[in-house]
Amino acid sequence: MSISRFQVVTDIHLVENLSVELKAILGAGEYALIVSRSAAANPSLGPVVKEFAPSAKVLVSPVESEPSVQWLESRLQDFRGSTLDHIVAMGGGSCIDAAKVFAAAHAHRSATSLSELAHKERVATGFTPKIVAIPTTAGTGSEATSFATVWDRSSRKKISVEYASLTPSHALLTPRALCSLPNEVAAPPLLDAMSHALESLWNSDATEFSEAHACAALRNIFNYGPTFLQGARDTMTLRKVQWAATHSGIAIQQTRTSIAHAVSYALTLNWGVPHGHACSFLLPAIWNYVVACDPNRYMTLSAVLGHSSVEETESRLEEMLRVAQTQNALRVAGVSEGDIRLHEVQQYSRSQNFSEPISSNLLSQWVRECL
Ligand SMILES: [Zn+2]
Repeated sequence: MSISRFQVVTDIHLVENLSVELKAILGAGEYALIVSRSAAANPSLGPVVKEFAPSAKVLVSPVESEPSVQWLESRLQDFRGSTLDHIVAMGGGSCIDAAKVFAAAHAHRSATSLSELAHKERVATGFTPKIVAIPTTAGTGSEATSFATVWDRSSRKKISVEYASLTPSHALLTPRALCSLPNEVAAPPLLDAMSHALESLWNSDATEFSEAHACAALRNIFNYGPTFLQGARDTMTLRKVQWAATHSGIAIQQTRTSIAHAVSYALTLNWGVPHGHACSFLLPAIWNYVVACDPNRYMTLSAVLGHSSVEETESRLEEMLRVAQTQNALRVAGVSEGDIRLHEVQQYSRSQNFSEPISSNLLSQWVRECL
């Protein structure tokens, strides 16, 4: 496990008074406000949206969940032609990712499409506005990462826009914003956070620092996730699940994701399985496999999580999937064992991050165990 560098760029605030914090960050600068439909209707955030929207130089509201490529491209011009110091994103992961796409458009003024923005080699001709992320789900951890994922459903492609300068300068965590989340909306993002934490553990780029953040995320998810997904909305629970998502974001910013995510992309693009379900259903089987490959490491990690054995960790993992009805989501979508093929999984670079060897037979075995 090598440690050469570990950097957390994002200034993470647990916010009591969002309006005051936001004013202090924005100062007299120009800003854009990107607001999801649910954030605008959120009892904690709605008044802040109303306060800041009139002075926004660019207002994008509402951003739908998982916006299409066409919709995002139709809004790029607003950002290419403006001068902004900050882009404020209030919403779930796809809203924060939309803000990153817009920040990239501001920096790369000649680019008119997402595929142009996705070229990592492009040289910025403009300033990249600082992103202020205000997450309204406990999920992707996008508030602490430099990349945005966009699902191109028409051509069935996943587009990743990634530049170091897209890492949010600030993450303003407002656990109260999670209070009104319905259980079925809360589940896929939290499963995604759980997958991110585990994927950063069984990752060839894992370090002691990424491991610490992944374990912090998993402790919170295992201890507070099941009750959260069954309706608990007390302050401690909301804090713990929101912190879990941010910890897992910090972990994958270092390592990126791995094999479970490489499997998930086709399930989301071809069958419409929500990302959180698609990237988590194999986790128990992968856990058992990595434990068999490196028992000492994973016994130690289970102990760090407060579990008496690797089997206890596996059962806590299965509990989360059961409460979130993950298997059901895949069955309803109509996914079957033969639909998941190793050569397709390996087309995604994330599969190369898996720390252990993999074969077609092994993947089929995982799918049989978990589907
Ligand atoms: Zn994910």
